[in-house]
Amino acid sequence: MSGEASTEAGAAHRPTERLRADAAGVARAAALLGSGRLVGIPTETVYGLAADGRNAEAVAALYAAKGRPRFNPLIAHLGRPEDALRVGRFDAAAQALAAAFWPGPLTLVVPLAAPDAVCDLARAGLDTVALRVPSHPVASAILQACGFPVVAPSANRSGRLSPTAAGHVLADLDGRIDAVLDGGTTEIGLESTIVACLGAAPVLLRPGGVPRDALERVIGGPLAEPRAEPGAPISPGLLLSHYAPRAGVRLGATRICAGEAALLFGAAQPVGLGRATAMLNLSPAGDLAEAATNLFGHLRRLDESGAAAIAVVPIPEFGLGEAVNDRLRRAAADR
Ligand code: AMP
Ligand code: MG
Repeated sequence: MSGEASTEAGAAHRPTERLRADAAGVARAAALLGSGRLVGIPTETVYGLAADGRNAEAVAALYAAKGRPRFNPLIAHLGRPEDALRVGRFDAAAQALAAAFWPGPLTLVVPLAAPDAVCDLARAGLDTVALRVPSHPVASAILQACGFPVVAPSANRSGRLSPTAAGHVLADLDGRIDAVLDGGTTEIGLESTIVACLGAAPVLLRPGGVPRDALERVIGGPLAEPRAEPGAPISPGLLLSHYAPRAGVRLGATRICAGEAALLFGAAQPVGLGRATAMLNLSPAGDLAEAATNLFGHLRRLDESGAAAIAVVPIPEFGLGEAVNDRLRRAAADR
């Protein structure tokens, strides 16, 4: 308890509006999302915690509200298939799958075509994007009113059960999100099936609401199996490659070595900072939500500066710092 208040500045207490599943509720939900707020919405699977996928601050606030220790890439939801087709690059298989199963419980992972449509943080820095067009009428109405991609992981605190009613969302997140739209009880359906279409044969990343044989009939052949990292046990987390800069990444740096770029946080001044070939600060004010917002963009820019390595100063391990450090450790390990 005592840790919570001090570690979760991004999820400060605020009144959570209750919205009805009528035209006014849908319009209010879309307006809140457009101004960077967080709204619990019903989908055909469970209630999702929705945020503007373009807006890295909104996405950082979403992670803070959920108390997620990791920045997993999020699924971007759109109101119409044609909207989704503009965000990614769809090869023949992806086009066929979208035509056959959207709207519905199929998520397609494709190369990103519109970089500003889904921010780096929502994609966990990857150059690919997960897209879905839900069929739930209320979700669909909100997404069509928004017109931009909306990320929406399950609307529960990390480690809790996925919510199938507005009351469950409030039990977990009342005072931590801006609104919840009550669309009744969602069917306790399966999660969306996730298929990656990234060049070779489409790969089944997660089984779900659309069965394998239906997918294989549409693509006219077998789905490929995901490959885990060598020697690693198969688990969904491991099937997902993560963002790795070309430059080496050195964590906990209190001094800068020759040829290194510096990734700073707060007021810390590592020894030899003058030697840094480039430097950026994740949050001069020491705000972990701001650090999350800037994380992938800053890493990318320092990597593009041509530095041999990126030295990262120590970042606190509480609140969103845990997820920031998790991603930095993966970037450092993935050599
Ligand atoms: P959900 O928990 O239903 O919101 O789904 C999120 C999951 O989608 C992530 O944990 C990943 O497994 C998957 N995902 C999202 N984006 C990508 C991506 N770019 N590449 C591979 N998998 C992704
Ligand atoms: Mg969940």
